[in-house]
This record gives sequence, C-alpha cells and structure tokens, in this order.
Amino acid sequence: MGRVSQFLILTVLVASGCGQKPAPVVDLASERQRMVQQQLMTRGIHDKRVLAAMAKVRREEFVPPHERAAAYTDNPLPIGYDQTISQPYIVAFMTEQLQPKPSDRVLEIGTGSGYQAAILGELVAEVYSIEIIEPLGKSAAATLRRLGYKNVHVKVGDGYKGWPEHAPFDAITVTCAPDHVPQPLIDQLKEGGRMIIPVGGFGDQELYLLEKKNGQLQRRAVLPVRFVPMAGEAAKK
Ligand code: SAH
Repeated sequence: MGRVSQFLILTVLVASGCGQKPAPVVDLASERQRMVQQQLMTRGIHDKRVLAAMAKVRREEFVPPHERAAAYTDNPLPIGYDQTISQPYIVAFMTEQLQPKPSDRVLEIGTGSGYQAAILGELVAEVYSIEIIEPLGKSAAATLRRLGYKNVHVKVGDGYKGWPEHAPFDAITVTCAPDHVPQPLIDQLKEGGRMIIPVGGFGDQELYLLEKKNGQLQRRAVLPVRFVPMAGEAAKK
C-alpha cells in the first residue's frame, strides 16, 4: 500500500471518531430497579403491587427524548408547557395511599405525561384522567395508546369539574394544587372511597388524604409537597 493511501485511511478513521470514547450507555432497566430499591423501598413504600407497577412501567417513555437518560433521577422532570412529571417517590406514595384494588375505577386530575395514569392502569380496572393543556393531553393519550393501555381514558378539559359521566369513583388522585378541595370531586367520590390531593398555595402545600365514610369526609395531612397550581375554575377568584 502506498504512502498516500495509508495516509487517507488514517485520516478517514480519525475523522469518523475512531479511538474516541463511546457515548455512555445508560442501562435504564437496571436504573429502574435501583430506583424502586433506593428511592421507594428505603422510604417506606411497601405495597407489593405498587412496587411491581413502578418496577414495570418505563418512565423514560413519558419524558422528552433529551431527558431519557435522567428518567430515574430522584426528581420531577420538565415535560414542556411549564409542567413536570412528578418525582417517582411521589407517584408511588400517592398511589399507595389510594390502596388501589383490581376492580377499582379511578379518576386522575392532571394527566401531564401520562406516567401516573400508566402506573394506575397496571393496578386498577379503569383509569379516567383529565388534562387541561391540550397538547399535553393529546401527547399523553398517544403515549398510553402506543404502550397498550386500553383501560386508561384521557380527556382534555378542566378537572375541577371531575368527569360526571363516569362517576362515582373508588379513588381520585389530583396532581395539581387548588386552594380548596373542589366540591364536584367530593361529590364524585364513592362512599368508602379515597382521594389524595395537594391543597394550598405555592411553597405552602400539604398532601391530604380524604376518606368518605358514612357520608362524612375525613381529612388528614400526609406530606408537605410542591405541585403546580390547579388552573381553570380553581384559579378564578
Ligand atoms: N400526573 C402527571 C404530573 C402532572 S403535573 C404525570 O404523571 O406526569 C400537573 C398537571 O396538571 C399539568 O400537566 C397541568 O397542566 C395539569 N392541570 C393543571 N390544572 C388542571 C385542571 N384544572 N384540570 C386538569 N389538569 C390540570
């Protein structure tokens, strides 16, 4: 081989990045199992069905492409439109508080990415989820459809009013914060049902667990949290 062609081969190899370190490959399946161990179990999440759902659902499918590698960090992540997908621990905690049963019909307010809806879809019979930002609702519905969640129904609208056509619900989860519990949601909760909802202003919110027993609502603060405010009717003065 002549000198010139040897030189050419070398140049091509260098230009194509040969000899450089490959980009780090993140093993998301292992990270997901580690998340369950280190972020959930060590913090006291113990419901086996909830842990199994968290170990199964691929959070990376619900975040924007450039956030995939960060899918199992112990944080909320941006999903566009100034909204976030909740921290995995918060999703697991809220889900566990609802004590989901396979026969349950659950209402979610604030579909966001669709991740929480998918977790619920693994655990209960039917999930009804409402999102106020149209492109987010449409994108979440498309993701859920692509992943095969036939029991998760998404609609675009104001969750303050609930979804009366499918009420009453065994459980209701709210992932945006109003400054009071919307009466329509109380009305749409079944006798014996549970609702988990953040209430309060930014920087001063509590997650409340509400239980309807003998027509009475029992309310207990379970965790200080920080959710985006509930938009729509709840934001009107
Ligand atoms: N559960 C989501 C996290 C959603 S963040 C997930 O797993 O990704 C809260 C969401 O509530 C945002 O997408 C926001 O647009 C939505 N939201 C705010 N006010 C709402 C309202 N009145 N009705 C329905 N959705 C609302």
